[in-house]
Amino acid sequence: MNYISTRGAGIGERHTFSDILLGGLAKDGGLYLPNEYPKVSADELARWRALPYADLAFEILRKFSDDIPADDLRELTRRTYTAQVYCNVRDEENAAQITPLKTLGVEGGAPLSLLELSNGPTLAFKDMAMQLLGNLFEYTLAKHGQTLNILGATSGDTGSAAEYAMRGKKGIRVFMLSPHKKMSAFQTAQMYSLQDPNIFNIAIEGVFDDCQDIVKAVSNDHAFKAQQKIGTVNSINWARVVAQVVYYFKGYFAATQSNDERVSFTVPSGNFGNVCAGHIARMMGLPVEKLVVATNENDVLDEFFRTGIYRVRKSSETYHTSSPSMDISKASNFERFVFDLLGRDPKRVLQLFRDVEEKGGFDLQASGDFARVQEFGFVSGRSSHDDRVDTIRDVFEQYDTMIDTHTADGVKVAREHLQAGIPMIVLETAQPIKFGETIREALEREPERPAAFSGIEDLPQRFEVLGNDAERVKEFVAERTR
Ligand SMILES: *Cc1c(COP(=O)(O)O)cnc(C)c1O
Repeated sequence: MNYISTRGAGIGERHTFSDILLGGLAKDGGLYLPNEYPKVSADELARWRALPYADLAFEILRKFSDDIPADDLRELTRRTYTAQVYCNVRDEENAAQITPLKTLGVEGGAPLSLLELSNGPTLAFKDMAMQLLGNLFEYTLAKHGQTLNILGATSGDTGSAAEYAMRGKKGIRVFMLSPHKKMSAFQTAQMYSLQDPNIFNIAIEGVFDDCQDIVKAVSNDHAFKAQQKIGTVNSINWARVVAQVVYYFKGYFAATQSNDERVSFTVPSGNFGNVCAGHIARMMGLPVEKLVVATNENDVLDEFFRTGIYRVRKSSETYHTSSPSMDISKASNFERFVFDLLGRDPKRVLQLFRDVEEKGGFDLQASGDFARVQEFGFVSGRSSHDDRVDTIRDVFEQYDTMIDTHTADGVKVAREHLQAGIPMIVLETAQPIKFGETIREALEREPERPAAFSGIEDLPQRFEVLGNDAERVKEFVAERTR
């Protein structure tokens, strides 16, 4: 398996899975993809149906990472996808499944269900990929005798998933910036209560954008970055995307009896990472009918899938919504799909994403490429705060199931794309406790709290408050990496 950049750099060069594991963007600013997608044969699909999650993950990942010895990879996936790690299930009986499928009911002739992806340590789907990444990083660094200092900015989900994945890992430190006193008490407690000596919570006196700007400033200091071995774990990381491919297969097997059936998935989307994995599963041969992209009020992606126009927003035009993990102004993984949509033409991708930088977007309707979107099964919709509240209430009343705000955006949009006889699987991306305020608004009751999280707000917290100053953050990092 060789990896190429969506913008064409390095064609003819060799990049293995391990080569791109610790890096971010390709050197031309593009994103890595395999030179071709591995195909799953009918025999394989039949055999995979019976596999436990960890072994399914092994079978899929090894098609993308043939440079890692098979025995090592199997050990890594078995250590990652265990009932002990994904223990925050709502129904004990499901603990072994890792990603249980919860059927709500039949609507419009279509079985409607939730694929539970948020039973991991931080109660959001990002654990699914990040936990594997932690183990892959530790394995690869040890092999080459290297160390890594991860620097990131978070408003919640990503940062805590990264910290819980990297805590206690040899050769890795995490420096995570978050806006001081701007996260919910629950999310603050989740991150700051970690006492592991390799995890550093830095509370910046500013807002989330300030934290992101500091990370950019530090990363642009190339000498510092190289000297301190700074890396990131953001959503463009290829291993994160490919780890997410696994649960599309698992969800398909859970929702069907035979491999002649087709299913649709609805995916609450922000940076297009999660649904990009669905696209890859479909390209590998998973029988997917529709991939439904659900956005909130930040509807960059919905606009594209309705009109063919991709128009990024300024950060001042980004709404702060009650499904905050989808509050994005541009979708950082979208370029991977555009590459496939344009028949893998790197010159055109380069031009289009230059247009994004220079003109704020591009129009594929005018060029005629947009017609091909339906060949890839994509449709979309958007949801508002009122939709979210109504959907949380309705799903609770009809199905006795409490869903979080992002999953509610998914259910709302899924209902607009049901087809009789085709199971519709909505990806559940977080548990309701993470977004308690909207649960209280919708249901006038407290969100369900997994047992492991009772009293988490009362635990001692470990964090450092720093001013909104990149130089101060650099000093802080340098002092702790000596
Ligand atoms: C990150 C996140 C999303 C968006 O996922 P993308 O891969 O960025 O599209 C949706 N819901 C929750 C709860 C998240 O944490």
